[in-house]
Amino acid sequence: MKKSKIVILGGGYGGLITSRTLEKLLKQDEAEVTLINKHDYHYIATQLHKTGAGTATDERNTLNIPSLLSKGKIDFKRGTVTDLNINQQVVMLESGETVDYDYLLITLGFDVDTFGIPGIEEFAFKIRSFRSTKAIQNHIIKQFSSYQEDKDPSRLTFAVAGGGFTGVEMIGELFEAMPNLCRVYNIPVEKTRIINIEASNTLLPGFAEEAIAFASKYIKKNRVEVLTSSKILEYTGDIIKLDNGKEIEAKTLVWSGGVRGNKILETLGVPIQKGRVRVDRELKVHGFTNIFCLGDASLFLKEDNTPLPPTAQVAIQQAQLCGKNLVSVIRGEKLHAFEYHHKGTVASIGNRAAVGKVGDIKVTGSFAALLKQVIEARYLLVLGGPRLLLKQLFKSKKTQPKVSLSNLK
Ligand code: FAD
Ligand code: NAD
Repeated sequence: MKKSKIVILGGGYGGLITSRTLEKLLKQDEAEVTLINKHDYHYIATQLHKTGAGTATDERNTLNIPSLLSKGKIDFKRGTVTDLNINQQVVMLESGETVDYDYLLITLGFDVDTFGIPGIEEFAFKIRSFRSTKAIQNHIIKQFSSYQEDKDPSRLTFAVAGGGFTGVEMIGELFEAMPNLCRVYNIPVEKTRIINIEASNTLLPGFAEEAIAFASKYIKKNRVEVLTSSKILEYTGDIIKLDNGKEIEAKTLVWSGGVRGNKILETLGVPIQKGRVRVDRELKVHGFTNIFCLGDASLFLKEDNTPLPPTAQVAIQQAQLCGKNLVSVIRGEKLHAFEYHHKGTVASIGNRAAVGKVGDIKVTGSFAALLKQVIEARYLLVLGGPRLLLKQLFKSKKTQPKVSLSNLK
């Protein structure tokens, strides 16, 4: 009998956990599975802010994909997806190569939403991928180096747009990175400015009052200027223009104003809603029996018609179910409906503090920071078992400032 061909697009949380689930469930010769990803490494997206600030090593935040997959069970193909022919069931890659499928899983992740604000796309830095955050790290180092020559204070002004999860996590890493950078470049830390700019009237909108109070106090104690009720209207690369008429001179603006589904989804010919692919309860794309989608690329509506948030927690749970459903579909068995179990949310503020809620328990401070590390460790356990966890834990944690010019934006 002809083996079914399963093709998975994207090697993020969704793609990798689905692959691992398929490895466990598929019988020998039951299907041919190919995982396609832009690079041969998987980046830990929940740690990208650390790559951006240079507070974690590249080895910690990236994992070689082929070494995570069992040999002979899943084929890995490095390639950038550019198009899809749904009628002929073929995926097109940038290289000109084509890959045909019987069953397809789209898990191509997120893109940063810049809402068409002038100058953001061109001049602001984005927390979107390993490469985009590496560019932030290199840019920061270059600013320190150039400051020694021209003493332009806007080089040492680091602004972060958005006081949501990503913005606050980025701010926390930035203030922890400054002392080391100042020491290496022999610049007093008082010369540096970190500014967080948030459109709404609070940091961490949607968080409990205690969490917001803790985060605001802790961030300000670490010399961060917090501007709430301040909407960015434009960035020129040198000046940030706010809706209250204020202008801030800064050669660095990290944009963390929100996310949407990967823009490539719009060109694939599958139904899109709010920038994401609308899926049914079994994670199938609406109107298709052989195309699945999950994670940040997908729009899954809960019973109350509100969408699940774009989080790794959701992507991992969906991937575990989707692996099972892909096996069921090729065996002609009944598919399972996805049920989300929210375990909690913790936002880090640097390495030493965090805020959030786990189950019904509200957590702040160093205990929350420890919990955050446990959550990250759990992902490695799910992905590669104790061996992967130990391997990653023994890799060196901190990176020294070192600019790689080839990676600059
Ligand atoms: P992704 O992880 O984005 O993976 C998509 C993959 O597709 C990538 O490997 C990418 O290289 C690949 N790809 C993209 N385009 C193409 C293409 N055209 N061709 C081939 N390959 C392609 N969530 C939490 O639950 N907890 C957290 O603590 C948390 N912290 C976060 C911190 C930060 C700084 C950020 C930015 C996000 C955080 N999130 C967190 C959200 C979480 O990272 C995402 O929800 C998660 O990454 C989604 O997983 P995914 O597999 O859908 O997509
Ligand atoms: P977000 O949408 O949660 O926050 C964006 C923030 O930017 C908002 O507070 C918004 O008011 C602000 N903003 C938007 N436009 C602005 C402007 N012009 N000027 C100033 N401020 C502006 O986006 P995010 O923080 O990137 O998070 C995206 C998703 O990733 C969320 O679903 C979140 O759950 C997930 N995430 C989770 C964690 C975690 O669990 N620790 C960490 C990071 C991201």
